[in-house]
Amino acid sequence: MENISREIRKKLVRMHQTGSHFGGAMSIVDILTILYFKVMNISSPDDPDRDRFILSKGHSTSAWYTTLAKKGFFPEEDLDTYLNNGGQLYGHPVRGGVPGIEASTGSLGHGINIGIGMALAAKNDGKDYKVYVLMGDGEVQEGSVWEGAMLAARLKLDNLVAIIDANNLQGFDRVENIQPVSTFRRKWEAFGWGVKEVDGHNHGELEDAFLAVPFEPGSPSIVIAHTIKGKGVADMEDLFESHYLSVPKDKVEAYIAELDEER
Ligand SMILES: [Mg+2]
Repeated sequence: MENISREIRKKLVRMHQTGSHFGGAMSIVDILTILYFKVMNISSPDDPDRDRFILSKGHSTSAWYTTLAKKGFFPEEDLDTYLNNGGQLYGHPVRGGVPGIEASTGSLGHGINIGIGMALAAKNDGKDYKVYVLMGDGEVQEGSVWEGAMLAARLKLDNLVAIIDANNLQGFDRVENIQPVSTFRRKWEAFGWGVKEVDGHNHGELEDAFLAVPFEPGSPSIVIAHTIKGKGVADMEDLFESHYLSVPKDKVEAYIAELDEER
């Protein structure tokens, strides 16, 4: 698993020589690795009984694309077309773009509500698949998230698992200065969710949490994953500007060497 995460991060360094959102992509790599390679039941993106994943913080889709390619859902060479005109690897995920993209996202605060619909459909159809929704910690300031939080608990969607990428940075400031991360647990508990907090880069903690779902019988679950924006590249770690910066072309090989050194 560590090797898969490292390879994904190295690919992201190459892909992000253009465009923005490098930092937020690097922070979710371990979450995606554990979900797709240890937890989720998804051998094919077309299996009607597969577990579903929605990247609600759609701006970090380069990490999702890379995970899906590693999973074998489309050729890894296609990752080299990221952000190319005429290609399928857009800056935000588009359903129908590449196999494995469950929902078009990027307009923040909607993924949890799409996930509620999918989880409710599973219940109605008598299916036992789970629905995972990954949100940003700035994203959960959106009012629509809390409408969904209320509804999911009322519908007793114990097959719904939300994850917060709690890297304490958002597009315009530190999250703590806008709506403190430290109060997340109490808010979600008050809305009727089972809550666990983990180190979002510790594979064992992530796996243990996901395998313990539902955290409370008959309730939706949320994993607050404490992460570091730009994780893996010291120049970019916990750096506000990593939301916008591309990887400087003259730093690519040094960053990749740095990721390899962490073996
Ligand atoms: Mg954030």
